[in-house]
Formats: sequence, C-alpha cells, structure tokens
Amino acid sequence: KLPPRLKREFFVCDENDKNAGPVIRVMQWNILAQALCHGSDNFILCPKEALHWENRNLRVIEELLQYSPQILCLQEVDKFEFVKENLGKVGYEGIFFPKPDSPCLDFRHHTGPDGCAIFYAADKVKLISQKCIVLEDDGYETNQVCVICTFGIIGNDHTPSFTVAVTHLKAKSGFEELRFSQGSYLLRYLEKMVESGPVIVCGDFNADPKEKVYAAFKASVLGLQSSYTYLSKTKSEPDYTTWKFRGSRRSPGGREESCKTIDYIWHSKHFRPKGILKIPTGEDLGENKLPSLVFPSDHLSLVCDLQLTS
Ligand code: NDP
Ligand code: CA
Repeated sequence: KLPPRLKREFFVCDENDKNAGPVIRVMQWNILAQALCHGSDNFILCPKEALHWENRNLRVIEELLQYSPQILCLQEVDKFEFVKENLGKVGYEGIFFPKPDSPCLDFRHHTGPDGCAIFYAADKVKLISQKCIVLEDDGYETNQVCVICTFGIIGNDHTPSFTVAVTHLKAKSGFEELRFSQGSYLLRYLEKMVESGPVIVCGDFNADPKEKVYAAFKASVLGLQSSYTYLSKTKSEPDYTTWKFRGSRRSPGGREESCKTIDYIWHSKHFRPKGILKIPTGEDLGENKLPSLVFPSDHLSLVCDLQLTS
C-alpha cells in the first residue's frame, strides 16, 4: 500500500483583476524516465520498491491529473503510450518527440527512447500547429529536443493564440556552454516564430539561475519572466526544484547531495501569474528526499495559473 499523497497549496499572487483575461493552468514536470531510474541515476537512499514501475505508474498519473492543468509540459517521457492512454480517458491529447540518441536505450529493460511531451485538455484549448525540433549547437544537431505547440482557447475567439515550448537541456556539470548554446538556439527559433506574441517556455534546463542560459532567457527580446520568482517577495527563484542523493563516483560508498533549482516556467509579458503551486518543504520531502514512494520523480512538478492580460 502506498503512503498518502502530500497536499500542496497554491500561493495566490494577485487577487484583484480588473481586466481579466482567460487563465491557463500550466504544469512543468520532469517525470523521471523509468529506464534511467533503474539504470544510471543511482538514487542511493531511495527505497528500491519506489522505483518499481508498478508503484510509480499510479503516482505519475495521479500527479499529472491532480491539479487539472490545461497544458502539461513533460521531460524524460519513456512511457508516452501509457501516459497517452490514461490521460486520453479524461480528454487530454498529446504530442511526443524522442531524443535522437536517448540514454534510455543503453539499459536492458528500456521501453524506447525518452523525450519531451506536451499534453493538452482538448475541451479547453485547440491545437493550431505543432513543431518538433532538435536543438543545435553551432550549426550541429545535439541530442536535446523541443516540442512547440500553438493553441487557441476554445470558446474565447477574441483572445490571441499562444505558443508553448517544452525542452530538456543537456545535463551535468561541465556542459554549461552547451546549455547556453542550446538555449540561445531555442530563443532565436522562438523569436522568429512568435515575433511579439504570447509564449510560454517550460523546461528542465539543468541549469541553476547563475548559469549563462538563465541570463539569456531573462534578457531575451521575448520579454520572458520566470513564473516561480513570483513566489518570493524578492523575485528570486525557489531554493530547489530537485533534491536527491546519488552514489558518489569519486568516493565509493559515499553519496552526493544535489539540491537546486533547474526547472522553470517562463512566460512572456502577455501573461500574469495568478496562482503558483508551492514548493514542499525539506521536511515534507522526507529524510531521503526524492524520489520516494510519495514522489515518483526526483523533480518536483511546477504548476502556474497564467492569466492573459488584455
Ligand atoms: P544527458 O547528459 O543530458 O543526461 C541524460 C540523463 O541523465 C538526464 O535525463 C539527466 O537527468 C540524467 N543525469 C543528470 N545528472 C546525472 C548524474 N550525475 N548521474 C546520472 N544521471 C544523471 O544525456 P544525453 O542526451 O547527452 O545522453 C547521454 C547518452 O546519449 C550517452 O549515454 C550516449 O549513449 C548518448 N550520447 C549521444 C550523443 C549524441 O549527440 N547523439 C552525444 C553524447 C552521448 P536530469 O535532466 O534530471 O538531470
Ligand atoms: Ca533525470
């Protein structure tokens, strides 16, 4: 029997809205590839049974449906058909784009490559166009991808269409320049595509707010702001979006703690954050942090209500 879920509250940003436009609820979540959590991830304090797919699958679907977002932006999806089948039962449709050479394929019990996916509530938004791209570095394709969709709001013909991009930048320290290059490529691509229209970019950037790629997003002509900075009075990012312990490569038997903010929901100035799903405390996550029997991924889901301003 699985332990009960943690109840997370929404922080309300701004209660008086005079010229209210429609609100779009967006989720960003790296769901943790099943092949990787059994393979290279080496989550040394995580109970083995928490990584079994028969325990994880319910928890993943539960998290995806819990807050009823209109748009779900996911990374490390190596079980797209499973997610699609289950979310399909409650009216979501989805688009998936695998990484060209997914590390999942290196593991014996893999179920295909991992990649990025967007799901959307088909009774709330309509898909106008979709694009799947491989991110480039200096003219060469890399192993990282992005799914970009343009949506209209059903029953709201007067509001403009908006574009949502989901990406997962190159992981690990030592690849800061590659992440910057991939992020810059994506920004140039979106600048051409959306011009000055409304845009949301969700991702596991594998970069903390001190990295160059973060600064590039903040300075972009798209006018992007990071939704989760609205959680704090000082407009700073939360302390973490991932918190885990891995076995140490440097000292056998030892462990390395990783507690940092690397996941983001960026929105253009056409949107205003209205509500933000709070980050659980360290105590809420438990002694061994993520993943666990309660939290099926090493990344926390981010959920934000974004209101289109008129
Ligand atoms: P990344 O380096 O971007 O990361 C792969 C996964 O590893 C991510 O999902 C990441 O999770 C996770 N990860 C991050 N930190 C660690 C860590 N310390 N220990 C274990 N796992 C970690 O993957 P690539 O896309 O570059 O793929 C690597 C694989 O792909 C290689 O094994 C090789 O087979 C192949 N490859 C392909 C290349 C190509 O261009 N075609 C080039 C190089 C390798 P998170 O994002 O959650 O941090
Ligand atoms: Ca991972």
